[in-house]
Amino acid sequence: MRYRITGLIFSAIFYSFLLSFVNVVKTNAASALAAWQVTSDGILKFRTTPYVDLKAYYQSGYGQKGDRIWIDFPGELSQPRKITGNGPIKEIRLGKPYKDNTRLVVEFNPQVSLNPSNLRLLGTSPNLWELRFDGLNFNGLKNIGEGLLIKRTGQIAPRRSSLKSSNRLLKDYQSISLPTVQRDRFYIVIDPGHGGPDSGAVGINGLKETDVVLDISRTVARYLGDKGVKVLMTRSSEIDVGLNERVLIANRSNADAFVSIHANATRGFRRDVSGIESYFYTGFYGEKLASKIQNELLQVSPGSPDRGVRQSRFFVIRKTNMPAALIEVGFVTGRFDAKFLAKSSHRKKVAFAIAKGILNYLKETY
Ligand SMILES: [Zn+2]
Repeated sequence: MRYRITGLIFSAIFYSFLLSFVNVVKTNAASALAAWQVTSDGILKFRTTPYVDLKAYYQSGYGQKGDRIWIDFPGELSQPRKITGNGPIKEIRLGKPYKDNTRLVVEFNPQVSLNPSNLRLLGTSPNLWELRFDGLNFNGLKNIGEGLLIKRTGQIAPRRSSLKSSNRLLKDYQSISLPTVQRDRFYIVIDPGHGGPDSGAVGINGLKETDVVLDISRTVARYLGDKGVKVLMTRSSEIDVGLNERVLIANRSNADAFVSIHANATRGFRRDVSGIESYFYTGFYGEKLASKIQNELLQVSPGSPDRGVRQSRFFVIRKTNMPAALIEVGFVTGRFDAKFLAKSSHRKKVAFAIAKGILNYLKETY
């Protein structure tokens, strides 16, 4: 079970952002925060009574005050306290800003800069939560916390399945959690669209298709390499490779599959259009490859519309002589997609999804 909190509402005071309004099953929660921990890899985890409504906030630092986030819990704290931080974290405070309320504050050192758009509070089960401080330097950060995150007895112990899913989360987007195929048996051509003088589509805030797809493609190659799959890239830097040349490279390679990676754009620069598409030209295997990848892309792009698996006559998938798919990982011109595609953390998830789709295809085909 996974609750995702989205929505970043600007609030005028001190550049505060309201991170989330969680809307899950409502109960009259009398108490709330049961245990918390900041792990050495920069994740704030905590346990609450099940199905509480939480609000999380971000505030940028000023003067000697560092950036901070805080989360308000229903139910009054009995003992306000401060815990000295380490690494990038200056201090953690537990307070009661008003009656019947508990506030957990994580304050960072003044020189640390949080990116509020990277902050997501995730409910990993009805009573467990995670907030990742992606992109920070965690040097010197040691676990800090109070209480047991997993309560093994008592009525709010998570079910076996939620224990499993929270373990799985820890391994998210690491090669180890990708499907396994026979090592050194498969060969894949990855084709990052465009390159060099041909930047492909240019979207919101100058977001360039070529940059997005090259980064994603390199990461796909790394993931596949980790699983013992040989990868040939039609380009691995910002150079312009002609479509004919890409096809020649692929057809000479005798590879098992060809995957061309693109980001989409609308002609009229319509910011309201976002979504994920995968294309094949012909045949059962091309369609299967495109479908496997599309399924995984949708998993890592919640909220981005499913524009489907489609047939098309794009040159690189029409002329290649192996199962081929062309993937559109989202719209650089779309308000929703562009925000995600601009983030390296999201591009990594997209790469993971593409690698997973390819591995699933190999696994089920051979
Ligand atoms: Zn393109």
